[in-house]
Amino acid sequence: MTAMASPSAGPRAPTDSNTADRPAVDGRRLLRRLEELAAVGPITGADGSRGSARLALTDADRDGRDLVVTWMRDLALSVSIDAIGNVIATRPARDGSLTSPVMTGSHIDTVRTGGRFDGNLGVLAGIEVIETLIERGIETTRPFAVAFFTNEEGARFSPDMLGSLVYAGGMTIEEAYDIVGIDGARVGDELARIGYLGAQPCPGPVPHAFVELHIEQGPVLELEGFRIGAVTGVQGISWTELTITGQSNHAGTTPMRFRHDAGYVAARIATFVRELATEIGHPHVGTVGKIDLHPNLVNVVAATAVMTVDLRNTDEAVLQESERRLHAFLDELSAAEGVTISKRTLARFEPVIFDDRVIDLVEKTASDLGNTVMRLPSGAGHDAQMMARLCPTAMIFTQSHLGISHNPAEHTDDADLVMGADVLLRVMLELSEGTVI
Ligand SMILES: [Zn+2]
Repeated sequence: MTAMASPSAGPRAPTDSNTADRPAVDGRRLLRRLEELAAVGPITGADGSRGSARLALTDADRDGRDLVVTWMRDLALSVSIDAIGNVIATRPARDGSLTSPVMTGSHIDTVRTGGRFDGNLGVLAGIEVIETLIERGIETTRPFAVAFFTNEEGARFSPDMLGSLVYAGGMTIEEAYDIVGIDGARVGDELARIGYLGAQPCPGPVPHAFVELHIEQGPVLELEGFRIGAVTGVQGISWTELTITGQSNHAGTTPMRFRHDAGYVAARIATFVRELATEIGHPHVGTVGKIDLHPNLVNVVAATAVMTVDLRNTDEAVLQESERRLHAFLDELSAAEGVTISKRTLARFEPVIFDDRVIDLVEKTASDLGNTVMRLPSGAGHDAQMMARLCPTAMIFTQSHLGISHNPAEHTDDADLVMGADVLLRVMLELSEGTVI
């Protein structure tokens, strides 16, 4: 079930297909758990596909957490919940001399239109890795830990990757508790309400190494014909909320030259973001994903627009340059139209470069299992980028069909999901032995 032939050719040929003496995960058990977790907060896409809606710290998120914690406890793992609601399950090492664990993990919160695999795969594969070791009586030199981090998606509370950020010491717990979500709820209150305001302090203990398995959420592996991605780092992310204040007026009687039209300004900004990304070129991306107009009526010039701008690049200098150019454009535009534009940073993360030794290990391990492997940066933010502040870190990507994600139609073939978990198992075993790090 595991060492399947690669679906397509690529430059990195398998180097060793004789893997029968090495353990492999129970693929059916992993797939069954993915299905069970997806059924918590179920939603159906327009094409009939099934996904999940578990916004962070909602009742649905709590139900998903409770289910995963049950699975962790069923394996008699020691489960700890920290002050920001991250949950970490640990299996002890062979003897107690080495205490910092080889850690894996991801998230189980979703966007409102979430798929079944984003985040969930990494968490459930981590549980599957540990269950495989227990079942086979394999003891490890270092403890094995699997975590799910709070509010990775950022769909309810900004910034995204909040739990891992606080774990890594990038934000104080007090600051995190005071974050107010899109529905007016406060992080600290919601953690307490759903019963996940834990006792373990943040920042959390430093692992020996961290590896996260995740679906690519982009089309590159599939398009390029590689089965597994050895992720080299994560793009820098700049999220800004802009509030444009103009003047509401009658759409029929107000001559164009007297307008202070917030809707027009928002549209110009959206166009600028697109043109700027095209001009800078790959891998730069820019998105306006949200525009709210007020009063949002057919015959009224909009008084205000609240919109978001998402800019990403793997190069910090280029990302900063794109921010500078956006700001210069905003100054020009606000003066020309007679509106004010206020800016609020929702999230700002510099690009992250993962540890070469762990990247090489992922590449070699996946290749040894008979896969074609591509080294690539991640276009999306992940908890691993926060953990990279603490310890040697990398990620494993599986293909995402057509790159569709944050959508119930998100799809990865069963065999690829299982292969990802097998790569994770072997990478973690190798890291535990201390030969790589
Ligand atoms: Zn994710």
